[in-house]
Amino acid sequence: MTPAPLEATIDLSAIAHNVGVVADRAGSAVMAVVKADGYGHGAVPVAQAAIAAGATDLGVATVAEALSLRAAGIDTPVTAWLHTPSTDFVPAVAAGVDIAVSSVRQLQQVLAAACALSVPAVVSVKVDTGLSRNGVAPAEWDALRGELVTAVAHGSIRLRAMMCHLARGDEPDHPLNDLQAARLDACVADLARAGVTPELVHIANSAAALARPDLARDLVRAGIALYGFSPLPHDHGLIPAMTLSAEVSSVKRVCAGQGVSYGHTWTADRDTRLALLPAGYADGVPRLLSNRIEVSIGGRRYPGVGRICMDQMVVDVGLDSDVHEGDRAELFGVGHDSAPTARTWADLIGTIDYEIITGIRGRTVRRYVGEVPGRATETVSEGEQTR
Ligand SMILES: *Cc1c(COP(=O)(O)O)cnc(C)c1O
Repeated sequence: MTPAPLEATIDLSAIAHNVGVVADRAGSAVMAVVKADGYGHGAVPVAQAAIAAGATDLGVATVAEALSLRAAGIDTPVTAWLHTPSTDFVPAVAAGVDIAVSSVRQLQQVLAAACALSVPAVVSVKVDTGLSRNGVAPAEWDALRGELVTAVAHGSIRLRAMMCHLARGDEPDHPLNDLQAARLDACVADLARAGVTPELVHIANSAAALARPDLARDLVRAGIALYGFSPLPHDHGLIPAMTLSAEVSSVKRVCAGQGVSYGHTWTADRDTRLALLPAGYADGVPRLLSNRIEVSIGGRRYPGVGRICMDQMVVDVGLDSDVHEGDRAELFGVGHDSAPTARTWADLIGTIDYEIITGIRGRTVRRYVGEVPGRATETVSEGEQTR
C-alpha cells in the first residue's frame, strides 16, 4: 500500500504491548482511555486493540465519544466523565454507558433519563479529592451520597465505580497522592455504612499505574502510556504507537546566502540542497519548532530550516546526501537510534507529548499496522483520515 503524502502510521501491536506493560506494573485491570479520538490515534481501532490485549474497560470524556464507540459495535464497559448542563443522557443510558457524575444535578439528570427509559442507569461517581477540577465537591458529598443511596435502593441505578483523578500523579512520592486516595476511600467507607458498595474503585492515571501500584485499587485508567509515553523519567519499555512521516515533495539546489521560507529566518551558509515536506502547522507540526526540528530520511538526520508554514516545511539535506523526491521523511516515531519522538518535539517547545500526539491533524492520513486479533492489518478505512 502506498503511504499517503503525510501519514500517521499507528502500530496497534504497540498499543497491545503497552496495555500489557501497564497491567503488569499496576497488577490490576486496565481501563483504556480513548478520549480525544484515542489521543489522536483513532478511538475505535485503539479500543479494539486494547480490548484484544486485555483491557476490561474504556474511558472517554464525553457521552458523544462513548456513543461513537457503541456505534462502532464496541460493547465493552465504557465510562464517560465530562458533562455539561445540556448533555442528553437518554442515549447514553439506553446504550448502557457508565455515566460518571460530578454533582447532584448531574445525578438527577441521569435519573430522569433512566426514568424516561424505564431502565436502570449505570453510574459512577467522580469525587474531587484535591484536583479542584471535575468531580463532586467535598461540600456536596453528603447531599450526593443521600441521593445515591436512595437511587440504588430504588433500583434506578447500578453503581459501577467510585473514582477520583490525581493532581500530581506524575510525582509518585508526593503526599497529595496518598491524601487523595484516603479521601476517596473515606467516601467509599461512608457509602458502605449506608449499605452501598460500588463494583469498582479507581484512582490511577498512567503515571500512578506505572509508579504507584499500591494506589491501583480495582483498575487503572491508562491513557498516555497506551500510546507509548511515560509521564515519568523511566519509560518502562513502552513503545510509541504513532510514527509521523511525509513524502519528500521536491529537492532543489540553492546557493550560499539564499534565505529560506517566510522571513528568511534561516540562510544557507554554503551551497546546499533543500527538501520540501508536505507537513505544516495546520497538520500539527508546531510552528514553534521552526529551525529546531530534525527529521530522518534514509536513516540520516537532517535539520528543518526556516519557518514551518501552514502546509509545508523545508529540510536542509546538503549536497552529499542521496535524498530524492519521493523518499520518506520520518518526522517522529518510536525513537530508534535516538531519532525524534513526539516527546522530543514536546521538550523542544516546552509542552508535553500529550499535546503533540493529540494535535496531529489536517491532511494527515492514518494507517494502521500491527497484528491485532479480529482486525485486519494495513487498513485505512473511510473516516479514519484525521480531522
Ligand atoms: C485523561 C484521563 C486519564 C488518563 O490520563 P493519562 O495521564 O493519559 O494516563 C485518566 N483519568 C481521567 C479522569 C482522565 O481525564
